[in-house]
Amino acid sequence: MNPATFAYHRADSVDTAIALLAQYGEESKLIAGGHSLLPIMKLRLAAPAHLIDITRIDGLDGIRDEGDRLVIGALTTHHAIERDDLVRTLMPLLAETASVVGDRQVRNRGTIGGALAHADAAADYPAAILALNAELIAVGPEGERGISAGDFFLDFLTTALTPAELLTEIRIPKLPPRTGSNYQKLANQASGYAVAGVAAVVTLDDGGVVADVRVGITGTVAAARRAAATESALMGKQADEAAIQQAADLATEGLEPLADLHASAEYRLRVTRGLTRRALTAAVARARG
Ligand SMILES: Cc1cc2nc3c(=O)[nH]c(=O)nc-3n(C[C@H](O)[C@H](O)[C@H](O)COP(=O)(O)OP(=O)(O)OC[C@H]3O[C@@H](n4cnc5c(N)ncnc54)[C@H](O)[C@@H]3O)c2cc1C
Repeated sequence: MNPATFAYHRADSVDTAIALLAQYGEESKLIAGGHSLLPIMKLRLAAPAHLIDITRIDGLDGIRDEGDRLVIGALTTHHAIERDDLVRTLMPLLAETASVVGDRQVRNRGTIGGALAHADAAADYPAAILALNAELIAVGPEGERGISAGDFFLDFLTTALTPAELLTEIRIPKLPPRTGSNYQKLANQASGYAVAGVAAVVTLDDGGVVADVRVGITGTVAAARRAAATESALMGKQADEAAIQQAADLATEGLEPLADLHASAEYRLRVTRGLTRRALTAAVARARG
């Protein structure tokens, strides 16, 4: 099906994009890679009267090292993140996550900003963004604000961004030594989206005790979230097989699982616990070097 008719506007700066959003309000939508927006427009699930193209705005793509953090522009494609040397060295979890998003065409066009702003329940990045404790930078009529990953994903297709705001960049604190990470997902065989996905970041002290652990879950629930009970159970413990298993068994505590034709609620929960065990085991092995 073709999308409903719309007017096309090309923004050449963040200020212009924000002015256009203010002018056309709820009738308008930003468009980046178009790989989530266009499919729902073709299905007539969305029919914005005004599309604001942000892909030509200078400075919104690219990856830079800012000392104690890595900064990724909202327009950076999944492919660029997967291939970038800085990301692969400093934030391998993000490169690993980008490499399993959809297929090559999707990775070449889709952007991290679009994926995070769209907040599909089955999207991959949210798990990694939570586990990496990232900060998302939004710019709107009132200026710039930072939103912590933990406060960003609110519900199905709903984030803390207001309709007047543009996501400009993602800031990720660098990881300490003896830190390992891993992303595991059960992919929908047709689209590649995560039926369930788990990202783990583990830091060990010199004695092999867990000094920090963060686990992000996506796909299982409407809005990605941290596995708080798993994290508390593993903190301060020797990261052996028994401790990891015990902590992983708590990963679905308090979750309200989704159920659809791809997976029942019960299956999603079971898979999530299994993926958590695998992600933690791989992250610990990498932390040990
Ligand atoms: C066949 C297929 C398979 C896919 N498989 C996967 C998968 O396995 N895993 C996965 O995670 N994703 C998957 N995706 C989604 C893909 O990752 C998209 O690229 C991504 O979700 C959206 O990014 P985009 O740049 O294309 O955004 P767009 O489609 O352009 O925009 C999406 C939404 O975000 C808003 N938006 C875009 N940029 C900004 C911004 N900077 N600030 C504020 N709002 C913004 C738009 O207004 C729109 O509402 C798949 C998509 C397709 C078509």
